[in-house]
Formats: sequence, structure tokens, C-alpha cells
Amino acid sequence: MKALVYQGPGQRGWDTVPDPTIIDPTDIVVRIDTSTICGSDLHILKGDVPETPLGTVLGHEAVGTVQEVGASVSSVVAGDRVLLSCISSCGRCRFCKEHRYGLCLGGGGWIFGHLIDGLQAEYARVPFADNSVYKLPDELTDEQVLFLADILPTAYEVGVLNGMVSPGDTVAVVGAGPVGLAAMLTAQLYTPGRIIAIDLSDARLESATKFGADTTINNGREDAAARIMELTDGLGADVALEAVGVPATFELATELIRPGGRVANIGVHGHSATLHLEKLWGRDVTITTGLVDSYTIPQLMRLVASGRLDPTLFATHHFSLDDTMAAYDTFADAANTHALKVVLEGA
Ligand SMILES: [Zn+2]
Ligand SMILES: [Zn+2]
Repeated sequence: MKALVYQGPGQRGWDTVPDPTIIDPTDIVVRIDTSTICGSDLHILKGDVPETPLGTVLGHEAVGTVQEVGASVSSVVAGDRVLLSCISSCGRCRFCKEHRYGLCLGGGGWIFGHLIDGLQAEYARVPFADNSVYKLPDELTDEQVLFLADILPTAYEVGVLNGMVSPGDTVAVVGAGPVGLAAMLTAQLYTPGRIIAIDLSDARLESATKFGADTTINNGREDAAARIMELTDGLGADVALEAVGVPATFELATELIRPGGRVANIGVHGHSATLHLEKLWGRDVTITTGLVDSYTIPQLMRLVASGRLDPTLFATHHFSLDDTMAAYDTFADAANTHALKVVLEGA
């Protein structure tokens, strides 16, 4: 089969690799019908994720059709359409039993396209199938559910739910990339009073208004913390969602928060950030971190089915799976192409 292979820092190829097969009785093999590319794939390609072995097939978000089923799998059969989440769950360890699948101790967690072959491929082996895949109702299209594999549950669980967004809240979202936009989209499920988007790119801020931002601040031109103080009678935002992953944006999130407010970090950080306890110690601020567990996928899927959530807004570009190399070029050049998510369509 063909697959997008990580060949080392800066190098990728659309290569011929062996067809995946059942290894453990809890595995299934899936034909990939629709896949996509994530910012973390770009991190791996930059060489930022040294644990990913050379030769790994990338990708951790897809919709597929079950082809083969391991001897102990009982919840899906050949022919079923399934959503493959970025997070796998062994179903047996302490954290899986607490629905913290991202922390799985039994070989799950973020494994696709990271520690094992991933989902930008014609076929994939899917471990722990009974606990890790989500059967799709016929009425939902691939594109309606594809982004529930990662960015929507990431923004919702690690941002909106950890930040306890509540009716009437002023929610500041630092970063208007795909995950920040997904935070704006899912924050609306809790009817905040106002969503403020902060980014350096006017194009991204323009997208933010389509995803629910009421106010946008370009912090390349404006002092975002000062502007938010102005908008909130000098108090600050009730909730700040950090969706970039660099020290400056984390520090900004802790500056613009009101006393008693909540800062939920969603961004993936590669460098240490300064925690200004000399300013924060007496302000009763809660700061949370997290990796997605994806336990909210069924809930989000019901919201998509009932028409209350429309993730197809993210699909800015479409390619055939064979054109994954070109899709990477488009996705990686988002500043010029304005790509949010690319949809890779299998044959
Ligand atoms: Zn992802
Ligand atoms: Zn586990």
C-alpha cells in the first residue's frame, strides 16, 4: 500500500510500505476513507518529536471502513464505518478506567503516527479496537466527523471543560489556529457572554469571527491585556484558553485573567514559560494543563448529528489521498494558503 512516511527531520515521502495485518487479537485493519494532517505531524517532521521512529507512517485522525477483525474484537465487524481517534485506549489500566485515555499506561494514548504507524495511508492497523474506535451512523458524512478525531475534543476537553466556561463568561482565546477556532466553536455550547480572539494574523482573526468570536485583537498591533482590561471594567477575562504553545502566549493568558479566573492551557509547549507567581499568588487563579482524552467524542458526535455543531467549517482544502504530499505543502504554508484543515479523500 501507499502511505506518508516520516523519513527523518525535514523528509517525508509517499512510499510503498507493507500492508498492515492483525498482530494482536484486539486489533482491526481499516481501509482509510478520509484522513487529515495536524500541526503535530509538522512537529514530527521538524524533528521536534525524537521518539517517533524513522519509517513511521504519519497521521492520527481518520475515518475508515473495517476490513479485518481480530479474534477478540466484538464491537465492530467488517464493513462498519468508524472514526479513528488520535487517542487509543487499552480499556484496562487505571487511567483508562477514569476515562483519561490520553494517559493510558497499557500501550494506548497518542500512538498513531507517533509510536506506531498512523492513518495517512491506504490501510491501517488499529490496536485496542473495542475501546478506541467510534462506529458511525450512516447519516453522518466523513467530513462531518473527521475533526472529532482530534481538534474538537482537544479544544473542548482541555480548553472549554477544563476552563469551566459558564454562561455569561468573557472567554479570551489566545491563538486563532485550528485548535483555538475549535475552542471558540465549542465554548458556545456553554453560552459565554463574549468570546475574544487574540492572534497576530488578521486572516486568522477574520476566521475567528466565523467561528464565534465577538471581538478580535491583533496583539502585534495592540496590547491585548490592556484591551481586555478595558473591555471588562478592569477585571480581566473569566476564562483564558491558551491555544498556541509558546511562552509569550501562556504568559499573556495569565496576565489577562481576572482574579478567581481560570487559565486552561491547550497549546503544546517545547520551551519553559515563566509563571509569574509574584503577581498571581494572591489572585486565586486556576491554571490547568492536559492532553486530550477524547472521551467526549460520542457527545460531540450527537451534537453534529442534531445540527448544533458544524465542524465542516474547518475543511478549507480537499485532496485525494494520493496527493498527500501536495496537501502537506498547502497545510504547512497556512500563512499564505489560509488552510485550516485539509481533507484527504481515499479512492
Ligand atoms: Zn492532530
Ligand atoms: Zn489504558
